[in-house]
Amino acid sequence: MNILIMGPPGAGKGTQADVIVNEFGIPHISTGDAFRLAIKLGTPIGVKAKEYIDRGELVPDDVTIGIVEERLQQPDCEKGFLLDGFPRTLAQAGALDEILGRLDTKLDHVVDLKVDRDRLMARITGRRICKTCGATYHVVFNPSKVEGICDKDGGELYQRSDDNEESVGKRLDEYSNKTAPLLTFYENKGLLRQIDGEQDIDVVSKDIVSLLRG
Ligand SMILES: [Zn+2]
Repeated sequence: MNILIMGPPGAGKGTQADVIVNEFGIPHISTGDAFRLAIKLGTPIGVKAKEYIDRGELVPDDVTIGIVEERLQQPDCEKGFLLDGFPRTLAQAGALDEILGRLDTKLDHVVDLKVDRDRLMARITGRRICKTCGATYHVVFNPSKVEGICDKDGGELYQRSDDNEESVGKRLDEYSNKTAPLLTFYENKGLLRQIDGEQDIDVVSKDIVSLLRG
């Protein structure tokens, strides 16, 4: 089963991706991991990507697409894959279609986690992280027993500097502007499966798994 997962920052995409991967025994493919693997293996496209990264330049689209194509040909993708973070643009979505066509396969489902903007804002701006162990809390949804102190080791809890309303707002706007055309693209293809991501994590997981089991 070939799946693409989409969702705004704070929607719980990472958690749900883990559930899908475990449930269906398919690899989780993020562009970051695909880059690291190609560079580690020293494939021609990996070498090319490394040149851009070493120069501190943006990796051009054709290289990113090449990395994804190479990754999707690894033997662990034979049973399917979960794509995460690619495609990000319509051009990349078109390129993905071409890649999958060459590999004689196609996407089966595009899972989109839907969470209201206010909820995302509350989730992200309420996040607190332990300076000592990195454990994460939420001031409302998952508070520590003592405010500002980690339950596990008494470490100090802090808020990431970019988890404030202004920068979260920018991230959310950027995400919705960029992905709106992609959602339409996949909706027109009949692949879009919107999941209510505002429910409890377990309920969201159940919804996704039963949808994918069809
Ligand atoms: Zn801690």
